[in-house]
Amino acid sequence: MSDLPKLNMYIDGQWVEPASGHYFETVDPFTAKPWAQVARGNAEDADRAIQAAERAFRKGPWRRMHPSERGRIIYRLGELIEKYADELAEIEVRDNGRLLAEMQHQIRYLPKWYYYYAGLADKIEGVVHPCDKPALSYSRPEPLGVCVGIVPWNAPLLLFSLKAAPALAAGNTLVMKPAEHTSATALKLMELAEAAGFPAGVVNVVTGFGKEVGEPLVTHPLTRHLGFTGSTATGAHLYSLAAKDVKRASLELGGKSPNIVFEDADLDNAVRGVVGGIFGATGQTCIAGSRLLVHRSVHDRFIEKLAAFTRSARIGDPRNMSTQIGPIANQMQYDKVLGYVDIARGEGAELVLGGKRPDLAECATGFFIEPTIFTGVKNDMRIAREEVFGPVLSAIVFDELEEAVEIANDSEFGLAAGVWTADMKRALRMSDLLDAGSVWINTYRDISYTTPFGGYKKSGIGRENGVEGIREYLQTKAVWISTAEEVANPFVIG
Ligand code: ADP
Repeated sequence: MSDLPKLNMYIDGQWVEPASGHYFETVDPFTAKPWAQVARGNAEDADRAIQAAERAFRKGPWRRMHPSERGRIIYRLGELIEKYADELAEIEVRDNGRLLAEMQHQIRYLPKWYYYYAGLADKIEGVVHPCDKPALSYSRPEPLGVCVGIVPWNAPLLLFSLKAAPALAAGNTLVMKPAEHTSATALKLMELAEAAGFPAGVVNVVTGFGKEVGEPLVTHPLTRHLGFTGSTATGAHLYSLAAKDVKRASLELGGKSPNIVFEDADLDNAVRGVVGGIFGATGQTCIAGSRLLVHRSVHDRFIEKLAAFTRSARIGDPRNMSTQIGPIANQMQYDKVLGYVDIARGEGAELVLGGKRPDLAECATGFFIEPTIFTGVKNDMRIAREEVFGPVLSAIVFDELEEAVEIANDSEFGLAAGVWTADMKRALRMSDLLDAGSVWINTYRDISYTTPFGGYKKSGIGRENGVEGIREYLQTKAVWISTAEEVANPFVIG
């Protein structure tokens, strides 16, 4: 028996052991060693959590409470995240290997989601309609009921919060399932939720594997909404399961985002943007700018600058505050990324940089891969079409704006795009023409609680953040109140 600490699930305001009695180990990607045991949930645990959330929705105080009171509790959770940000960041790094510097920054930013949606909770207003009948008709947005959130391992608490804050502010109750590789911060957050004053059952966390506990959450008859962030394959599968029961779903899926550098761009800034886009978070973000489209006239100069800048990046221990590139989050992903390096080579792409484990003592045990740049990539190669989810950049040359647009849009994904140019007319034209849910001009990877985020095409359905983000978690009820003296002819409707 392992003596590593055991992390239990949080259901109905209680810390509970898994029905199966089984736990699995969660691994520190820097040391490649397990550091805790996580409860291995199954359908029985899923049912328990959904039932608790349903009870809390139907019978508990959450829905009856004035929205401003709900807002106060959500706000308090934001304050507690702020207070415990360093501890949360440290757990996050231990579980997924992201840079401590980045996680501290990200987790200090997280409370804004709770503050924003806490403020929105009592501003959800209905409409009185100009009715053409002897009646007062009005409609108002109402919560959906039990919402399920399934999130991946790359930014566990951020992606948790993008769903939890609006879903709860809208008056729903929630069952969250973090990724099996990164469950620890979601559980720590439940300690804070309890302290913030959430009534039992309003927010629950079950842990375990997708098929074993995630799927039963989605197919449970009491679930009304699925909020999913993860791969397109899993998202499409879960969407079809949700469709069977006519459940609503918001999906934030994969990407193969183009970062387009025109000849008049400030090349130094563009280098920083391209590096941040693909090597930030070791390339493990859905918005990774994994296709670099460069104008032919600056191609060689740009690649040279890019390679020089990337070479100078410090790779190593994610806990060291000066590290710029950390390890890949898990063994499976590490193998997958190296597999894509082989695929790209086999397809004839030219390896300019990286493509292997760094030759550094500090990187000897963890899941490290050097930042990798391929040139001579054609858009029909697998390396340009499939999501790698790692630090691998594919450079493609273009001559004309129209050609850049065609290449950029020739993808099954449409999550994000970057444009680097000094010409604002061209930038605006590009923003019109690109099929992407976010277009960044002379910047990349910006995200805010105020601004809708989501995908075109196979990158997803629905939007997170901003006012639009809370609408995903609401449904409209129309109410009719007759003002007629007598009920009209019951046999004639309309
Ligand atoms: P990734 O490649 O990022 O791990 P996934 O889409 O497989 O992408 O995983 C994202 C989340 O979806 C994780 O929490 C994972 O456990 C969950 N998941 C994976 N497969 C299923 C499934 N069949 N049903 C429910 N959840 C799943």
